[in-house]
Amino acid sequence: MQASCIFCKIINRDIPAKIVYEDELIIAFHDISPAAPAHVLVIPKKHIANLLEITADDNKLMAHLMSVIPGIAKTLGLEEKGFRLVVNTKENGGQTVDHLHFHMLGERFMTWPPG
Ligand code: AMP
Ligand code: ZN
Repeated sequence: MQASCIFCKIINRDIPAKIVYEDELIIAFHDISPAAPAHVLVIPKKHIANLLEITADDNKLMAHLMSVIPGIAKTLGLEEKGFRLVVNTKENGGQTVDHLHFHMLGERFMTWPPG
């Protein structure tokens, strides 16, 4: 928990979010400014600033996070056509919130390469 972190505030219910999945380790909620018709952020409740801060101590947490994504995709109706999973990391990755988050983007075709 980091007091100034907007995603920690969502976890603590200090600010609202449209939550689509939650368990003891993970929470997933709709992005406030969707970049696709379906845009959900999947985050660990543990405050990890970005992908580079993950350590071996987080192995179980990260495996668990990955394991809940198929169920979230099914909840969102994304299993048939698929979706894109994105982790923007630091400046060049375009990261704007310093709490590790996995963007799930769907319900439209995603071009490649990204902008
Ligand atoms: P990134 O730019 O990869 O760090 O992604 C941060 C994402 O968080 C952006 O897509 C924002 O629209 C989203 N975001 C910021 N504040 C909120 C919020 N209060 N609730 C939901 N999503 C948010
Ligand atoms: Zn945080």
